[in-house]
Amino acid sequence: MRIYRDLAQSIGNTPLIRLNQASALTGCEILGKAEFLNPGQSVKDRAALYIIRDAVARGALRPGGTIVEGTAGNTGIGLALVGASMGFRTVIVIPETQSQEKKDMLRLAGAELVQVPAAPYRNPNNYVHYSRRLAEALAQTEPNGAVWANQFDNVANRQAHVETTGPEVWAQTEGRVNGFICAAGTGGTLAGMALALQPKGVKIGLADPEGAALHSFYTTGKLEAPGSSITEGIGQGRITANLEGFKPDFSYRIPDAEALPIVFDLLEHEGLCMGGSTGINIAGAIRMARDLGPGHTIVTILCDYGSRYQSKLYNPVFLKEKGLPVPQWLDRAPRTIP
Ligand code: PMP
Repeated sequence: MRIYRDLAQSIGNTPLIRLNQASALTGCEILGKAEFLNPGQSVKDRAALYIIRDAVARGALRPGGTIVEGTAGNTGIGLALVGASMGFRTVIVIPETQSQEKKDMLRLAGAELVQVPAAPYRNPNNYVHYSRRLAEALAQTEPNGAVWANQFDNVANRQAHVETTGPEVWAQTEGRVNGFICAAGTGGTLAGMALALQPKGVKIGLADPEGAALHSFYTTGKLEAPGSSITEGIGQGRITANLEGFKPDFSYRIPDAEALPIVFDLLEHEGLCMGGSTGINIAGAIRMARDLGPGHTIVTILCDYGSRYQSKLYNPVFLKEKGLPVPQWLDRAPRTIP
């Protein structure tokens, strides 16, 4: 297609990129779905588009209406961009702890930002609950009404992957894909890909960061979340509506110390500048490749672009404070010619 009708048409149909280091290491073909090439630079553009389309189809979102969401950033960027292209206003509730770059991007995308202190899901002031109450209040006061996107429990989110990402991966690999693995935030990508690909015999893996409870749930039945991670946008503590009915074939808990060197190697050796969740995904793909054995094709998600994390993941001072390894090239001061 040469000319897109609007921004929405430019979402999806992303390339699969062969990850050469991970492939050489395992004897498998490890492929990354380049979701950072979406217009909002993340996998969440797909969910944003489906959530907005669904709200319009249900009559919940009317012309000139307002979309409200609690988000770690990427869904908000997708909602704001798609919303702007369709004439909707966006209000985003974000935990203060998310990267400044994501907050700046949200503002550039035209979203109105509401920052709240980070609080666990069981706290009524958690950003998700706050955004639901705000949506209810704005629905009464906004002239054209307001809807709550509710990405965690709105299955229009995973439907985006059932209908687009899953079939794209199947077609791009000409049905050769043996395994798919990724981390879960809302679980929309993971469960949507499972719905699309598990019936075709593709094995599905969960790569869970430390501080998330899903690995423990799928291996012991208990929601337990030991440790912590600097990765953003992933690390779920409950079974969201998007995850209902989902069961992985493989499950791994990945420490940051395993995932971050992969992120730095990607930039140094493959020219891919990615966020931290991509490191968890590729670490998971490597572990799954070892369990499946050589000769298999495994797909994972390259979730979002790394420029979003310059002040954290790509900041030596931040990494040292967290006790995480800093690659030598990242710690080099620029040479100044007098
Ligand atoms: N990586 C990043 C950077 C994200 O922002 C998200 C979404 N929160 C994910 C991964 C996980 O995607 P999903 O919500 O589909 O589980």
